[in-house]
Amino acid sequence: RGYLPVIKEAVGGLFKKAGVEPKDIAKAAFYAPDPRRVMELAKSVGLNPQAQLQDPLIEAMGCTGTAHPLMLLAAALEEASPGAKLLMASYGNGSDAFLFTVKEGVEELRGTRRGVKGHLERKKPLPDYTTYLRWKGLVTMPERRVPMAVSYPSAVAIWRERNRIYPFHGVKCKNCGTVQYPPQRVCIKCKAKDNFEEVRLYDKKGTLFSFSFDFLRGIPIGIVNLEGGGRVFLELADVDVRELKVGMEMEFTFRKLDLWRSDGIYGYFWKATPVTA
Ligand SMILES: [Zn+2]
Repeated sequence: RGYLPVIKEAVGGLFKKAGVEPKDIAKAAFYAPDPRRVMELAKSVGLNPQAQLQDPLIEAMGCTGTAHPLMLLAAALEEASPGAKLLMASYGNGSDAFLFTVKEGVEELRGTRRGVKGHLERKKPLPDYTTYLRWKGLVTMPERRVPMAVSYPSAVAIWRERNRIYPFHGVKCKNCGTVQYPPQRVCIKCKAKDNFEEVRLYDKKGTLFSFSFDFLRGIPIGIVNLEGGGRVFLELADVDVRELKVGMEMEFTFRKLDLWRSDGIYGYFWKATPVTA
């Protein structure tokens, strides 16, 4: 038993249980190992692959495993009208099938997020296959000749600063309104002490103040001035260092950091990337 019979059974069961017929489905978001198999699957459950199958995006992003049907569902929602029925089915150790009815208000969200489409439009191919292998941990690279003494923050320190790190919060002085990042205890402008409120910064834009290239780690790094105040030092993502210019508009994206931690714990933080759209 493989892909076709397993999903077919799950979807067939769902149709029966929900009292819907294949023709009621606006778009089906199916896990897809390859474009041809998913077409076969659509036909086998009575759907018209041309009209009712959500583009499996295999050529644009490959097969993303567990996330695949959810990404396709998100892509389907970006185009869906209220009242439309969307079908989603996963595959792997069986199959889970879901039926959704799109509610009013879906159109209002359009254009407010980057979405699957937006992310795919701004994707950048890796420069070479070696980079892919290295990022995926599929090859062992030679030791760096210059050992880097990275001191890892303890879990306690991360917990204490969690709002600065994960939701990218800075502080705003309650006395003079100056926004500061990283968070301070004393206002840089009016010197008021411990008189701040936290403000969210990740959805702010910024301008590139300075940048450099870290040849040890092979990544661009920069200092970005945030709109409304605050200055942050971070890694830059999805950009060739030769394309960087002081003063260019930047936005923020939450990413995994390429730190060589011997304890195997991943570090995450925001990175800045040029605004493209
Ligand atoms: Zn102040």
